Order: sequence, then C-alpha cells, then structure tokens
Amino acid sequence: MTLPTVHVYVLGGTITMAGGAGTGIAPKLSGEDLMAQVPGLRDVANVVVKTPFLKPGASLTFAELSNVAAMIQDDPAQGHVVVQGTDTIDETAFFLGLLHNAQAPVVVTGAMRGASALSADGPANLLAAIHTAGHPEAANRGALVVLNDEIHQALYVEKMHKGLVQAFQSINGGAVGYYLEGRPRFLHPAPQHRAALFSNRVAPERVAVVKAVLDGDDALLRATLDLGYHGVVVEAMGAGHLPAQYLDALDALLERVPVVLASRVPAGPVFQNTYGFPGSEIDLIRRGVIPAGWLSPHKARILLAAGLGAGQSMQEIRDTFARFA
Ligand code: ASP
Repeated sequence: MTLPTVHVYVLGGTITMAGGAGTGIAPKLSGEDLMAQVPGLRDVANVVVKTPFLKPGASLTFAELSNVAAMIQDDPAQGHVVVQGTDTIDETAFFLGLLHNAQAPVVVTGAMRGASALSADGPANLLAAIHTAGHPEAANRGALVVLNDEIHQALYVEKMHKGLVQAFQSINGGAVGYYLEGRPRFLHPAPQHRAALFSNRVAPERVAVVKAVLDGDDALLRATLDLGYHGVVVEAMGAGHLPAQYLDALDALLERVPVVLASRVPAGPVFQNTYGFPGSEIDLIRRGVIPAGWLSPHKARILLAAGLGAGQSMQEIRDTFARFA
C-alpha cells in the first residue's frame, strides 16, 4: 500500500513545551523531536516536518499564519498538519480554513499536557492528526481540528476548558468524526468544500471586540472610534442583545465602521427576528449591525478583519457573514 505524504508544520504550543522545575514550561522541542515520540507514525504516512518557529499559541500572528497558508498552498502533499498552542486553535483553524482552497485537508492539533507530563497527550494527538490528514475520507473538508480522538470542523470548534484533555468541543452539533481503532471515522460524507473566501495574501485589518456586561457603560464602545479600529464586533448578551445605554455609542459607531453582532453565549446562532425592545436583535439589525450567525465573537472578528483587509464593500461584508447565518 502506498502511504500518503503528509506535511507537518510545527509552530510551538504546550505540545512542544518542557521546562525546569519552578520556572514553568516553554516551547523547546522541534518537529523532529516530536515525531520521534510517536510510535507507529511510519505505518500511517510519509511525514515531512518543518519547524518555522516555536511560540506559545497566544503570540501567533495573522502574518505568520498567512505564511503557513502560502506554504500549504504550494505543497502537493495529500494532507497538511499544523501543530501549535491550543490557546488559539479555534481561531487559527478557522482563519486557515478561510484561506484554504485545495482538496487536501489542513488538520490543526496541539496538546493540553506538556511534553514531559505524565500521560502527555501530544504523541496520540499527532498520530491521529497525521493519519486523519492523509486519509482519503478527510479530503474536501477544509480545516479540521483533531485532539483527544475527536475530529472537529474548524467552523464550530471552541476551546471550552482551560486544562482538561477534552478541552475542545464543537458546541453546535458535535464532532464530525472520531479517531478509533487506529483510524479516522467520519460520521457523514465530506460536504462540498467551499472555495477559499480570501487569498493568503490578505492582511486583516484591526477589529475590536467589545463585550457587553451587566450595568456596563458605553465608554469602551465609544473609545473604539478614536482608537483607529476599522470595524467592531459587539459581544452581546443572550440571543444578541445590548443594554439600552450602549445604543447612542452604537449609532455613532455605525456611521463610521461596520459593526458585527455576536454573543457571549457560546452555543446557537445570534437571533434575527424574535425580540423587539430597544437593544434587542431586531432593533440592532434595524440600526445597521451585521449578525454573526453561528460564529463566536473571536471568529466573527477574524471574518470581519479579513473582509476589511480584502477591501470588501459593506454589501460584500454582509454577504460573507450571511454564509455563516
Ligand atoms: N499556552 C499554550 C499555548 O497555547 C497552551 C497549549 O498549547 O495548550 O501555547
């Protein structure tokens, strides 16, 4: 049997971290070091590994991810794996998916336990991610996230726990597959993979995320006007509701920049047509906000930032968000 070729890009994260007692763990292990810890890897794929840099997930940038996306685009492998810190996997996998055109999937993985921890989860996650990336059934699925024997679609997966190995969940609908008995098993056939929404040369613009809180004031929302942000995501309450005292600032903002309505409640889409009080989703949409659909506030920020960076008009931004409603 001919094994698939899978290219692995190691960017850092807990999976690469080891450290001295008392000083805390930090990125140390290269891609080669990681691969050497995975028994059985040679039986599932021909692996080519690159370590462009080692960083914690929290410090990754759009420019670095666009470079990885460009390397992936130029790379004829049957599958691609990105290994990185779990702190940003829900965001980076979504961003890489927006830039990805090819049939070969991009599988993002990491680990919740450091490389020298008891029962470190890194090696098993790497084997599952690499095997999945090279598997024919993973083709045409865009960006996936594989950890803890679960296969998630980048669009829906969120980091839901700070420390447990089952930190990643697809809160709207569940995982799309599992890694069981040494092979990936998908629950449904691959959807028609959508073409990339953006080129990997896109430079996302600055977009602020402002959270609504009980008895909060509008100072932060108002301040975004003077801080040079090109767009704002409001992380509203419930189904998509803002305190009435935010509305004057919101109207002023809407005259200058696009404002997207997301919610601080993780599951479900923001509503569009149920509540009718000042600050309700019907009121906010009438004022001009763009509903984020199923996207979390941080994913909505990425979509708006990329749209603005690509020079999308207001109507194009609305149409792009409508794909996620
Ligand atoms: N702080 C780590 C990071 O994102 C967490 C992890 O990888 O699990 O780099």
